[in-house]
Amino acid sequence: MKLHEFQAKELFRAYAIPVQNGTVIERVDALDGISLPYPLVLKAQVLVGGRGKAGGIKLAKTPAEARQHAQAILGMSIKGEVVRRLLVAEAVDIAAEYYLAFIIDRTARALTAIASAAGGIDIEEVARTTPEKIAKALIDPFLGFRPFHARELGRRLGLGGTLLNDFVTIATALYRLCEREDAELAEINPLGVVNGRLLAVDAKVIIDDNAVFRHANLPKNEEMTELERAARSEGLSYVELDGDIAIIGNGAGLVMSTLDMVAHFGGKPANFLDVGGGATEENMRQAIDIVARKPGVRVLFVNIFGGITRCDDIARGIAANPPALPMVVRLTGTNEEDGRRILKDAGFDAFIDPEAAAQRAVALIGAQA
Ligand code: GDP
Ligand code: MN
Repeated sequence: MKLHEFQAKELFRAYAIPVQNGTVIERVDALDGISLPYPLVLKAQVLVGGRGKAGGIKLAKTPAEARQHAQAILGMSIKGEVVRRLLVAEAVDIAAEYYLAFIIDRTARALTAIASAAGGIDIEEVARTTPEKIAKALIDPFLGFRPFHARELGRRLGLGGTLLNDFVTIATALYRLCEREDAELAEINPLGVVNGRLLAVDAKVIIDDNAVFRHANLPKNEEMTELERAARSEGLSYVELDGDIAIIGNGAGLVMSTLDMVAHFGGKPANFLDVGGGATEENMRQAIDIVARKPGVRVLFVNIFGGITRCDDIARGIAANPPALPMVVRLTGTNEEDGRRILKDAGFDAFIDPEAAAQRAVALIGAQA
């Protein structure tokens, strides 16, 4: 479970990791009630990275500027996530940007400390272009991450004096946070040099999903796109992927095998929606709207094996809400004849064989290229 920056920074405060003073707002008007000194930094609170590049982080020297930026950021969409909250904090002058993180290395089956003097940019980017600028330390779970480990790591970044002492304090605190809160990632990027001291300018924490139940004190964040939210509110289970074939099926097993079949024939699912057992005409209408709304969808593949779900209900849903994109339907099972007749009247044919249908769906993508 990912924490928002402001939530991660609350945890940081609890572990005495220095952060800027700030407050969270949801409406532009709430800026009036804020008593922080200018300049301020306004930061979009979304669970995706690269907010700075996407225009989700702005400095404001005056209240007028703050209003203007807040107006622009609140409601904007960053990688498909709509910004509903804004962290407003005291802006700082950053003399240098470092990187520090603890992450579970699954291959080594251990927590690993990663640090770099090339902070402020994506660590993946640093790893690709200048891997020598990254210092790593595997942590022996029985020994833990001790101050002397932190000191050694800090030295490898070229730190000394006060900055090295700060680094040791912050790194050991961040390690303790990981241990106690069951974090699988705790990242500070950038770890800034501000007035000669280190400060966590950004904060990213991911709590191990399997351990969330042990931390009643932590917020419960659900990571959902707008469409996933819409599906949830209709009682439909919907998941997004990044291909171009939208998939609707009934039952988790059927849907999973549909994904496999599409992939087998060389197609890429864009998303999938399980209308479940006993889906109604209305469920089917809604399902079509949701899967087809995702940007990049070029073909719709409906795979229904009627049991409790009746083929005629599904067909009526399709007939009442025919999609604007090419569609392939596979329909068999309960009330199959009625379903086929309804579809036929609406101008659609249906397959019985799921593999032939999957192949057709993939071929339709090819035909569009
Ligand atoms: P991210 O883009 O989602 O990783 O968000 P960050 O919080 O890391 O901010 C991105 C960049 O904005 C940082 O690397 C800084 O260069 C800059 N930034 C963020 N906060 C401040 C601030 O208080 N003062 C200044 N001068 N720059 C900031
Ligand atoms: Mn960052």
